[in-house]
Amino acid sequence: MPKIKINREKCKACYLCIAHCPKGLIVIDSELNKMGVKPVKFQKKKDVDCIGCAFCALVCPDCGIEVFK
Ligand code: SF4
Ligand code: SF4
Repeated sequence: MPKIKINREKCKACYLCIAHCPKGLIVIDSELNKMGVKPVKFQKKKDVDCIGCAFCALVCPDCGIEVFK
């Protein structure tokens, strides 16, 4: 199954990745990062898997997401 890795310290909380994930698997974390913003995190959903489309990684302006297929 594809997986993503988010670098929470690079995340500037633009939330473009949330808007572009067709599976709704990226959400806002409740903990602030070192920049003082709430970064995103991957959140598993029952019966919904990451499809490895890489939309999240492609839209991230700071290259903060890697996709592993
Ligand atoms: S690779 Fe696609 S399905 Fe997986 S988290 Fe990113 S946008 Fe969502
Ligand atoms: S697109 Fe990148 S910088 Fe924007 S919220 Fe997602 S991980 Fe953070």
